[in-house]
Amino acid sequence: MINVSKKEMHIPINAQYIVDTLNNNGYEAYLVGGCVRDCLMGREAHDWDITTDAEPVRVKQLFKNTYDTGIQHGTVTVRIKEETFEVTTYRVEENYQDARRPCTVHFSKEIIKDLQRRDFTMNAIAFHPKQGFVDPFGGSIDIDRQLIRCVGNAKHRFEEDALRMLRAVRFSSQLGFDIDPDTLEAIKINNSLIQKISAERIREEIDKILLSCHVDKIRVLADTGILACVMPELVRCFNTPQHHSYHIYDAGTHALMAVQQTPKDLMLRWVMLLHDIGKPISKTTDEKGIDHFYNHAKCSVEIARKILKRLRFDNKSTEKVLRLIKWHDRPVAVTEKAIRRAVRDIGQDNFVDFLYVKEADIRAQNPVYLQPRLEALQKIRALFKEIQIQGQCMTLKQLSVNGKDLMACGIEEGKWIGGILHKLLDIVIENPNENEREILLAYAIKLYEKEKNKRV
Ligand code: ATP
Ligand code: MG
Repeated sequence: MINVSKKEMHIPINAQYIVDTLNNNGYEAYLVGGCVRDCLMGREAHDWDITTDAEPVRVKQLFKNTYDTGIQHGTVTVRIKEETFEVTTYRVEENYQDARRPCTVHFSKEIIKDLQRRDFTMNAIAFHPKQGFVDPFGGSIDIDRQLIRCVGNAKHRFEEDALRMLRAVRFSSQLGFDIDPDTLEAIKINNSLIQKISAERIREEIDKILLSCHVDKIRVLADTGILACVMPELVRCFNTPQHHSYHIYDAGTHALMAVQQTPKDLMLRWVMLLHDIGKPISKTTDEKGIDHFYNHAKCSVEIARKILKRLRFDNKSTEKVLRLIKWHDRPVAVTEKAIRRAVRDIGQDNFVDFLYVKEADIRAQNPVYLQPRLEALQKIRALFKEIQIQGQCMTLKQLSVNGKDLMACGIEEGKWIGGILHKLLDIVIENPNENEREILLAYAIKLYEKEKNKRV
């Protein structure tokens, strides 16, 4: 059932060279996995993996430039000019340990054996430029049906390696495919095994889902019970309806919709996934039956901090994500002064991202209010640009005086300086004309005297 002809498989010349070299030396060699699947789908393939019956030592002898990538598992990276290719010996995996790693790996002489160890039928197709396709598990039919199906018994395959459950959902979000009912059922049965997988691997898969075209597939993670193991806080959001005129979705659905409304930037997508994660615990309902979520941004920051730590985010990314979550609900009026104040709070570097967050948030709310809110955001964007072009002061760096200037006027070093500079910034933000050295130094001296008297 393969509709794609050999000619339509546009194999890169260097991959072809590797296959030819192996064949000319008496070995079998095929392209395999993601590249074959992507070609059959008419998608651009990003890495071209090769599988062969030549053992790693032979692969290393046959190519000048190689390095050991996973030599014990049979993978050698072959470099040709600027391109690299993973060449892996046919292998059989057995005795999986800890629901992830095979304890025994041995090399095989049969391509079918190698295809059999692969996760999904669509990923278990081999292609040879002259001989065509080897597709023993009906992978191409499944690609036609847009279906993700385990090779062999799904339940066993997930028991061997629990990461495959997340991979199934991740592929479904990237390709827009459904998961075959048996495979889906097997995920439900084995969901708790996901706890055996490292936080880094889980995060890698969630990152890919967040950057995909079908972020709504996170719902499959919820429905199969995987989400309850990796991010139970988000499951609670799906169970939090929002009876409020601004909202038409529960907090979880709103978050997914908001993710899809941002540019494909990983940090922004994490912000949107977690921006309302504090809503379930901050929800109150008034006597008219309207829900309120006072202080939810603060709760979201606290919960998001725990999630990001659990998923081993580095400090810099964590702080950026949390800063945008903290301010996501901050109102900004369409005036230069309001924008300067917002930039002071949120930071100039974050302000453009903050506007993306706001836009995504309102796009995922009741569309009745959408137009005027979008128009206001557009005006804020334009005004912010204008303020920047004019060089209006919004940050300490842009003040006409700095700490040294204050010290030169006799103001003591230490706590005083920082506090006074911030107060000067507040003055300038309210009135940009006051960003003059003489004016600010006069203010600074007055503030210093006042502070000193207070502390005496
Ligand atoms: P992507 O486009 O994400 O790179 P891919 O299919 O190439 O997709 P990889 O993770 O690069 O995925 O793996 C390459 C191939 O190795 C897969 O197509 C699959 O055949 C096999 N594979 C990878 N991970 C597993 C796994 N956990 N269990 C079984 N087979 C796997
Ligand atoms: Mg790949």
